Amino acid sequence: IDWTREQGWHDARIVPYGPLQLDPAASVLHYAQEIFEGLKAYRHADGSVWTFRPEANAQRFQLSARRLALPELPVDLFIESLKQLISIDKAWVPSAPETSAYIRPFMIANESFLGVRAAERAAYHVIVSPAGSYFAKGMQPISIWLSSDFSRAGKGGTGEAKCGGNYAASLLPQQEAYANGCSQVLFLDAEEHTYLEELGGMNIFLVRKDGTLITPKPSGSILKGITRASLIQLAKDMGLKVEERRVALQEWRDGINSGEITEVFACGTAAVIAPISALKHKDFIVGDENAPAGEVTVALRNKLTGIQYGLEEDTHGWLTRLA
Ligand code: PMP
Repeated sequence: IDWTREQGWHDARIVPYGPLQLDPAASVLHYAQEIFEGLKAYRHADGSVWTFRPEANAQRFQLSARRLALPELPVDLFIESLKQLISIDKAWVPSAPETSAYIRPFMIANESFLGVRAAERAAYHVIVSPAGSYFAKGMQPISIWLSSDFSRAGKGGTGEAKCGGNYAASLLPQQEAYANGCSQVLFLDAEEHTYLEELGGMNIFLVRKDGTLITPKPSGSILKGITRASLIQLAKDMGLKVEERRVALQEWRDGINSGEITEVFACGTAAVIAPISALKHKDFIVGDENAPAGEVTVALRNKLTGIQYGLEEDTHGWLTRLA
């Protein structure tokens, strides 16, 4: 769907997958005026296809648009675009356990000029791809890498928006994580380098031995994950307490040593939940790389994936039928 300042949103169309034509002076290529979202489509046993909380993704897309000085796409247009695309061919959504189709809506500024100002033209696109199971060999705990030199976002920055620039800034620390045998990087706050923020592409939770969940409270520099919000609700449904607040790295280190913290996990649309067995840093390691997934982690994952795949009752009305 195209947008111009004069015409607003117009010319919605579905075209065969292929390269985009962009003017070399298109603003997105120079100033990274771009935002995106990530959702999944799940096939249920009766063949129908559903997605999870798309209105939350649509609202976050609007928040990202405001921060990046892009036009806001109406929520109903966002959801309709997913329905239209998936309805072309339901076979894009595989049916094997734990598989799905990954849906990537994105918006780019495509006015051709080389001045630094918000573009007056933009284009919204959606692409879709079948996705295999994140944990092909069953749920495997991951080790994560603590970045000492880099932050993802600071106060007043774009951390709360889902824009490409945030990810560009995280690629170098992510490479450092891979080089040290870890699959994700953990960022601390930019100002004091003391408090947990999030991973390169996931939010983080600690679990206390009494079952209480502890997670960093978003204060403008982390992405408000939809999986995060859903798990907070499900944990409360299960009678667990949830603390959203500042969480110092030291609290994790002390808690693992004293036995007060019994589980740590990361969450996001792609993996749903990934147990974290260890946090590695150039000078220390917290946890045990061989530790198995904890009880609360497994229970929450089963509950949420159960709802997404239509195996558990959707008591919060989180599912929207796409096809
Ligand atoms: N933080 C970051 C930086 C992410 O890229 C993601 C994935 N979108 C998340 C958190 C988790 O968000 P969600 O649960 O909405 O996928």
